[in-house]
Amino acid sequence: MREPGAPAHATAAEMGAAVREGSVPEDHFLKAALQRARAVDAGEQGLNAFLALTEDAGEVHDPPAPGGEGSGPGGTGGSSPLAGVPVAVKDNLCTLGLPTTCASRILEGYRSPYEATVVRRLRAAGARILGKTNMDEFAMGSSTENSAFGPTRNPWDPDRVPGGSSGGSAAAVAAGVVPCALGSDTGGSVRQPASLCGVVGVKPTYGRVSRYGLVAFASSLDQVGTFGRTVADAALLLEAVAGHDPRDPTSEDRPAPDLTGGLEAGIQGRVVGIPREYLPETLEPEVRARFDQAVERLEGAGARIRKVSLPHTRFAVPTYYILAPAEASSNLARYDGVRYGRRAPEARSTLELYQASRTRGFGPEVVRRIMLGTFGLSAGYHDQYYGRAQKVRALIARDFQEVWDDGVELLFTPTAPGPAFRLGERTDDPVAMYLSDVFTVTANLAGIPGVSVPIGSIDGPGASPLPLGGQFLAPPWEEARMLQAARTLEASYGTADAAKSNGALGPGGRKP
Ligand code: GLN
Repeated sequence: MREPGAPAHATAAEMGAAVREGSVPEDHFLKAALQRARAVDAGEQGLNAFLALTEDAGEVHDPPAPGGEGSGPGGTGGSSPLAGVPVAVKDNLCTLGLPTTCASRILEGYRSPYEATVVRRLRAAGARILGKTNMDEFAMGSSTENSAFGPTRNPWDPDRVPGGSSGGSAAAVAAGVVPCALGSDTGGSVRQPASLCGVVGVKPTYGRVSRYGLVAFASSLDQVGTFGRTVADAALLLEAVAGHDPRDPTSEDRPAPDLTGGLEAGIQGRVVGIPREYLPETLEPEVRARFDQAVERLEGAGARIRKVSLPHTRFAVPTYYILAPAEASSNLARYDGVRYGRRAPEARSTLELYQASRTRGFGPEVVRRIMLGTFGLSAGYHDQYYGRAQKVRALIARDFQEVWDDGVELLFTPTAPGPAFRLGERTDDPVAMYLSDVFTVTANLAGIPGVSVPIGSIDGPGASPLPLGGQFLAPPWEEARMLQAARTLEASYGTADAAKSNGALGPGGRKP
């Protein structure tokens, strides 16, 4: 491995190997990560990637129950694939020993009495939970500016957003604090920030990963996803957390996947579809150019490129923004100051208590979603909005099924319409913000897996390059195939760290 004292450059696999061999103490990487997390978050221009950091680097905080229900495939047999690897966890995943706030005032200081299955599985695999990452409040947003605790900054350019809603996790990985992190993806919240931060982000098939202990936003769309600086690390992390969980009735009872074993299999002969709806005339020319170059690389690696059409794509954003708020309005009803949420002290009646607690606790975007969702579900409008959106959702899913039936094995698209935008640029225009999800929401609506992988960068107006991502989409349960393609593309850029191959040693100005 490389120098053990340089966590910014070691992969999770390398860290785990060093700890298992005993060449560094078990808490070596956690301690280094803690130091680095404090350093990158400090000061005016600090990233603000973390909402909480683990306090006791010395002890294993919450020893996993060996072989228990919550322990994943990685945890059994004592193989500890993530031994001593520091992992950052999005703050909408319940953890013991650390607060879980969803970056909302309404849950400020909340400590969950139980742990999310994915977090238990990480611990069972030997990982160390470094801390909880910043996010858009309740995962609603595309820039991490909707956090009640201040925005996260992009490590490549601190005047820009890291994307969202899992912006803290993406920034922590991009800044070299941790090699990998957990996020959640309801409409793109792992893939889009991965693209804007120049890292790898995976959203698995719906049902692949347990949602037990993931604070619900839109339950039929939510999936836990993984970030890595490399495809291999994102795959390793996914392998550790994936698999059936009896505590989540929507988790599928099927064998946990082998995602790392065949990662180098290549894409020789694979039929890769390029959907024309994902390359609109309005796409920024530089994004188009990087995308076309990535397609050439895929061809060079032996892929058979085919132009395809997914005709219902243009309805995806409106469909998503009816369904996701509808589900959210129902899921967020529990924050009433009685069952969950900080109670407003001065209320004189139950109704006043609900009203005051919710008014005080929720930020403007959450309120907007609750109102939109309640409207779309209300008697008299239900058929026109929610009911109709459900039908269109089925058509969007059918588009995908048709291309798979036609022999297409993977799809390749840009992940986002552009690079990281400036802080504040879209905060007054919710629709402009919603449009950063045009290429990602379809996978959630259809329940299929997707991955964003760096495809180089474009020159920002300053000195710093701005990374871009390409997205592979695959048929349900074909994560292994999808990650092989992502790995092939990553390798074609000449390094495991594709974003670095464009002349940047790392996110601008934040070298260790
Ligand atoms: N940006 C989308 C939204 O605001 C997706 C969020 C997510 O995936 N959690 O709803």
